[in-house]
Amino acid sequence: MPHPAALPHDPDPTTAELVAARPHLSMHAMDGLLMDGVPLNAVADQVGTPTWVLSAGSIRGRLQALQAAFASAGLPARVHYAVKANDHLAVLRIMAQGGAGADVVSGGELQRARLGGIAPEHIVFSGVGKAEWELRLALEAGVGQINVESAEELAMLSGIAAGMGCVARVALRINPDVDAGTHAKITTGRADNKFGVAYDSAAALYAHADGLPGIEPVGLALHIGSQILSMTPYRAAYARAAELVRDLRAAGQIVRMVDCGGGLGIGYRDEPAATPAAFAGAIRATLGGMGLELAVEPGRWLVGSAGLLLASVVLVKATGNRRFVVLDAAMNDLLRPAMYDAWHGVVPLSAVDAVQPTSPADIVGPVCESGDTFARGRALPALARNARLAILDAGAYGSVMSSTYNARPLAAEVLVDGNRWSVIRARQPMEALWAGETVPDWLG
Ligand SMILES: *Cc1c(COP(=O)(O)O)cnc(C)c1O
Repeated sequence: MPHPAALPHDPDPTTAELVAARPHLSMHAMDGLLMDGVPLNAVADQVGTPTWVLSAGSIRGRLQALQAAFASAGLPARVHYAVKANDHLAVLRIMAQGGAGADVVSGGELQRARLGGIAPEHIVFSGVGKAEWELRLALEAGVGQINVESAEELAMLSGIAAGMGCVARVALRINPDVDAGTHAKITTGRADNKFGVAYDSAAALYAHADGLPGIEPVGLALHIGSQILSMTPYRAAYARAAELVRDLRAAGQIVRMVDCGGGLGIGYRDEPAATPAAFAGAIRATLGGMGLELAVEPGRWLVGSAGLLLASVVLVKATGNRRFVVLDAAMNDLLRPAMYDAWHGVVPLSAVDAVQPTSPADIVGPVCESGDTFARGRALPALARNARLAILDAGAYGSVMSSTYNARPLAAEVLVDGNRWSVIRARQPMEALWAGETVPDWLG
C-alpha cells in the first residue's frame, strides 16, 4: 500500500502546490527556495550536497500546536517526543525547551535525550527488547516510566530493580489487535506483530506485576503504528484500553495513566493530514473523564515536515523512453522510498527551473540497487548538471536511518532558525568510514 490517497490517475501536486502547503518554505524570484528566511542555495553553496536541512521554527510551532490541542480539549496530556524519528541533540534541545519529554527505545537514545536536556523523570523507555544493561541504565538515570512489553521482560526488570533497591514505574504495553490502516512495515498493533502484551492476558499480567518486588504498575501504554491518517483505528484502540482500565479498576488495581503512543501521520503528497485537534478528540472521546494522566509519543508529526534533503543533479540520462535524473543523494541517505514505497515531494531550488515546462522523470540515486529510486514519472523541468533539488518532508526517519552503504559518507546537517543557520553535523570525512577497521597482521 504505497500511499492510500494517491490513485494512479491523481496528478501529483505541482511545485507551487507543494511549497504553498508548507508554511516554512517559500519560492523567491531571485534566491529560489527559502526555508524560513534562509535561501537554500546559500546553504548548498557553503556546505555542499547532499545535506539535510531542518527548520527549528517549524518544530517549535508543531510542538506548541499539539500541546494547545490537548489543552483546549481539557486533557492533561504530556508530549513525549519519540526520539527515534530524529535524534539530533539540537532537535532534542528544541523539544526540551518546548516542554516535551522523550520516548526512547534504546540506551543510546536515553543518553541522547539526557544530553539534549530532557529531565529523566520525563523520559519513557519503550521497546520490545531492552537489554539488561539498558534497563539498569534507565533505573540508574531515574526515568519516569518503563513500558514493559512482555511477562519475560517484567520478570527481568523486577530482578534488576529489586537488586538495585529501587522501584520501576511500569506501564504495560498492550497489543490492542487493531489494524492501523498503514504500511505493513509500520503497523505495530496487530495480534501477529511482535509488540506488546496480548490484550486478553494483560489484566492478569498487571495483577501479577502488582505483586512483584521492584515493580510499581502505574498504567497502560499502546502504540498501534506510524503514519496514521484516520482517527478510526485510534478510537478503536483507545476504546479497548479504556475497557481494560475499567476492568482493572473493578478488580481493585490502581491505574493512574495511559500512554497513548504516537503514529500521527503527515501529508507527504496531498493526503489530508491528521490534525492534533482530531487526535485529542479521539483520546477525549475514549479515555477522557476517567481521571487518567495521559501521554502521547509523536515523532513523525513533530519533525517530518520540518526537514528536507538537498541534492544536486549528477547527470541526466535518457534510456529508451525514460528520463533518469541521477542525484548525489541516495537510498543510503533517505531510505524511506526504498523501504516503505514512500512518496516524497521533489522541488527545484531555482525559481527559474520551478516554472519551466515539465516532463516525466525518474529521480534516482547512484547506489547499485534498483530500489535506489526516490520517485518515478515525476513532472520535472529540464535539469542541468549541478541543478539542485529538495526532497521534502525528510525530517523524520531520514538522517537517523542513513547508512554508509557504497562507502558513501553520512551527509551534513543544517539547522535553520529564522534568518540564521548553522551546520549541526559536519559531513562525515571519508577516512571516518574505515577509521575503526583493522586488517589482522596474520593476513600478511
Ligand atoms: C516509533 C514509535 C513512536 C513514534 O511513532 P511516529 O509514527 O513517529 O509518531 C511512538 N511510540 C513508540 C513506542 C514507537 O515505537
